[in-house]
Amino acid sequence: MSHDPNCIFCKIVAGQIPSKKVYEDEEVLAFHDIRPHAPVHFLIIPKLHVPSLWEVGPEHQALLGRMLTLAPRLALEQGAGNGFKTLINTGADGGQEVYHLHVHVIGGPRPWRVG
Ligand code: AMP
Ligand code: ZN
Repeated sequence: MSHDPNCIFCKIVAGQIPSKKVYEDEEVLAFHDIRPHAPVHFLIIPKLHVPSLWEVGPEHQALLGRMLTLAPRLALEQGAGNGFKTLINTGADGGQEVYHLHVHVIGGPRPWRVG
């Protein structure tokens, strides 16, 4: 399924739910996390509905590469020039809340709320 009508991040991709956009191209969207853990906290997501890292296969290699390659560039642009964390929560024990694959990019001047 390329799009899940019940998925909150698919709704953000479709513009049905507002987001504070950081970056967009034909395959990827990045937007600020609604509950930031740090001064810089945004999410990089594929526009394609991939529920989690569990569902990733060889056909997603380029997409994952694109998402991760964007992280340092966007982190710098957003003010995390002194370093940042990247985080992908997967499944129940991984603490995943939204089942549309996303990479957290968390940084900016410390102290942070979490981590
Ligand atoms: P995870 O636990 O990795 O699934 O994290 C999901 C993240 O999505 C959390 O950090 C939420 O704050 C964030 N989130 C949920 N809904 C929205 C939204 N509408 N806009 C931006 N971020 C959101
Ligand atoms: Zn989705």
